[in-house]
Amino acid sequence: MNTSKRIIHTQYPDSHRILIIGGGAGGLELATRLANTVGRRRLSEITLVDRYPTHFWKPLLHEAASGHRDPASHHIEYAALAKRNGFHFVQGELEGVDRAKCLATIGGIADRDGNDVLPRRVLHYDSLVLAVGSVTNFFNVPGAERYALPLENVEQAEKFRRKLLAACTKANHFREAGATLPAPTINISVIGAGATGVELSAALRNAINLLSAYRLESLDPERDVRVRLIEGGGRILPALDERVSMRTHARLTRLGVDILTSTPVSEVCADSVVTGNGERLASDITVWAAGVAGPPVLQAVDGIALSRLGQVLVGETLQTPDDPRIFAFGDCAACPSSIQGVFLPPRAQVAHQQAVYLSRSFFERLTGKTVTQFTFRDAGTVVSLGPAGAVYQGDLGLSSRSLIVGGQSAKALYAFVYRRHLFALAGLARAATETVSQWLRSRIRPAIKLH
Ligand SMILES: Cc1cc2nc3c(=O)[nH]c(=O)nc-3n(C[C@H](O)[C@H](O)[C@H](O)COP(=O)(O)OP(=O)(O)OC[C@H]3O[C@@H](n4cnc5c(N)ncnc54)[C@H](O)[C@@H]3O)c2cc1C
Repeated sequence: MNTSKRIIHTQYPDSHRILIIGGGAGGLELATRLANTVGRRRLSEITLVDRYPTHFWKPLLHEAASGHRDPASHHIEYAALAKRNGFHFVQGELEGVDRAKCLATIGGIADRDGNDVLPRRVLHYDSLVLAVGSVTNFFNVPGAERYALPLENVEQAEKFRRKLLAACTKANHFREAGATLPAPTINISVIGAGATGVELSAALRNAINLLSAYRLESLDPERDVRVRLIEGGGRILPALDERVSMRTHARLTRLGVDILTSTPVSEVCADSVVTGNGERLASDITVWAAGVAGPPVLQAVDGIALSRLGQVLVGETLQTPDDPRIFAFGDCAACPSSIQGVFLPPRAQVAHQQAVYLSRSFFERLTGKTVTQFTFRDAGTVVSLGPAGAVYQGDLGLSSRSLIVGGQSAKALYAFVYRRHLFALAGLARAATETVSQWLRSRIRPAIKLH
């Protein structure tokens, strides 16, 4: 497809064109907020671009991968939200940016059979906001990109879930057939014990118990499935307080997760994982959750400066030092934290606060007010352990020490973060209706996706 179509949104010809690339946790919230502030006042025309037609909140991916959530019930259609709030939605993938002409090139779209649906398009902007998230960082470990599954989007989560279901079904069949030999153990390796790896391994243990209770009755979850959580550093959840790490370690062990710390992975093969000391661990399904980097497309943004991890370097107003018309936030941005030389972590909480900040600062900019700087306020970190609850670490402004809560209160806090996201996108009434409808569906559906 080599024809390019120029799209110029001209509803309000004099208004400031804000082009947001990426409708994830941060970008979609920003588009919604801007449409309801500067958009409503006709100070600005807002366009959101995403490669997909629907939004899925990334922190739910481990629940989609384990089968606890049916992604179909959690997709939000960009076009519907755009119409309701008054922004434009363009589907396609950012291919490059011409900074001199203030143009972004959006790739064409083809259907599943490869037939062209939309041509390549060129969009003008006055301000460009990059919110394209992150990609998995395999750290050049041999075989990792080829054999380990990343967890970046719904397709990958579904691919993992189908592999898990197939492996459990086979092992169950083997048992049912009355084989006298011990059934082959299914080995699952989760590499990286940050929040994502911890949440995924806890969810997996629970998923396997549920699968065996629902339809794979001959499968013995403990005997037939081994879930290993492999971490190169000395403890799990290295970014959190040591007490949270120890408490979580104990809970995961009780759930039946084998935890290997101080175990760097030096190679991933089709059926195994090789550790730094040369030990080969059998692995039928390997998931890579060991870190993220900026998406390669950022290198096509006409010479803007990137961090060591390929994220866009931004200052305290989330603008790039090279070009004040370009902003970046969320996982794709390297934004300074209060600690010298340390960037803010790739978390939904950071993306949310930056979206709130940017919607306010665009309003300030477009109404001639003094633009404030972004300050991150850490509201704490909550890590879900499925039915075993969740762990939370934060000071909540109550004391100078970290507060750690577990069990149901931390679980409720975890659910609250997603509800807050829905609320920011859909408003109170719709978010409440959505919550009730999801709860009702959970009453009539099995607790795990069975196909
Ligand atoms: C399994 C998992 C669990 C997590 N759990 C938590 C948690 O419990 N708490 C927490 O705070 N954080 C969690 N995170 C991290 C959190 O999801 C991210 O920090 C957050 O989603 C970042 O928001 P974002 O808007 O920067 O990027 P994203 O939400 O990743 O959105 C990026 C968007 O950009 C689009 N895009 C990408 N490239 C292009 C392109 N070239 N052109 C057009 N569109 C493009 C994508 O389709 C996507 O919609 C988790 C992440 C994972 C993977």
